[in-house]
Amino acid sequence: KDVTIFVITPTYSRPTQMADMTRLSQTLSLVKNLFWIVSEDSQTRSQQVAELLNRTAIRSVHLLGPRPATHLDRRSGRGVSNRLMALQYLREQFTNTSEEGVIYFADDDNAYDIRIFEEMRATRKVSMFPVGLIAKLGLSTPIVSRQTAKIIGFHDPFISRRKYAVDMAGFAVNLQLFLNRPKATMPYKVGYEEDYFIKSLGVQFDDLEPKAHNCTQILVWHTKTSAAIAPNYAYLTKYNDYNNT
Ligand code: UDP
Ligand code: MN
Repeated sequence: KDVTIFVITPTYSRPTQMADMTRLSQTLSLVKNLFWIVSEDSQTRSQQVAELLNRTAIRSVHLLGPRPATHLDRRSGRGVSNRLMALQYLREQFTNTSEEGVIYFADDDNAYDIRIFEEMRATRKVSMFPVGLIAKLGLSTPIVSRQTAKIIGFHDPFISRRKYAVDMAGFAVNLQLFLNRPKATMPYKVGYEEDYFIKSLGVQFDDLEPKAHNCTQILVWHTKTSAAIAPNYAYLTKYNDYNNT
């Protein structure tokens, strides 16, 4: 039976947004049985994002999840309110259904090898895999035991007090597992979003499924698009002879 991958993308308005979102949409277009939940950190839907979603053949929904006034500070994390809105959408749509799916948080600026989606499609509880370009190590990866082929720890530049030291792009969750854990949620706490969310799913280390050849391949990268100046669309018309004839 076909398992749908529910890709949750938090996004927000800035000069590089459409460059990132266009690239991501064209990556996701190559993946079958995928449903894209685009959730904006905004009070209003961006027209450019809406048009992008209409242009693609990807099944999608366009949600709004603005940060609440109580969580506008830097310590509240990036993209949390909109991810929470996407999770709420999944609960509303699929509680008491037998929908087979996998949830994956795909930030708009990362780079994805489409093979990672086929790796995560078989997730029974929580699957994990390496992410490239993470801070000073350039890597965040589960450590897999050679004897048991189980995940026994993490190699990540920020272990701190985390039990599950993974990046947002480094794990996927079975939809029914999430639906069966009504209290599963993401905290407004920088650095602990992934750890708390996975803990709230009530899984054990033994439940973690290593993917990407026992976590020896990098199929997703935590790339960052550098800040830039937005194109001036008025000038685009003004300096184009074709438009001045
Ligand atoms: N994001 C958001 N609101 C914000 C900042 C970020 O919705 O105020 C989204 C952003 O579009 C991305 C994710 O949250 O999909 C993570 O943000 P970012 O890539 O800037 O964080 P970093 O990768 O530097 O941790
Ligand atoms: Mn990012």
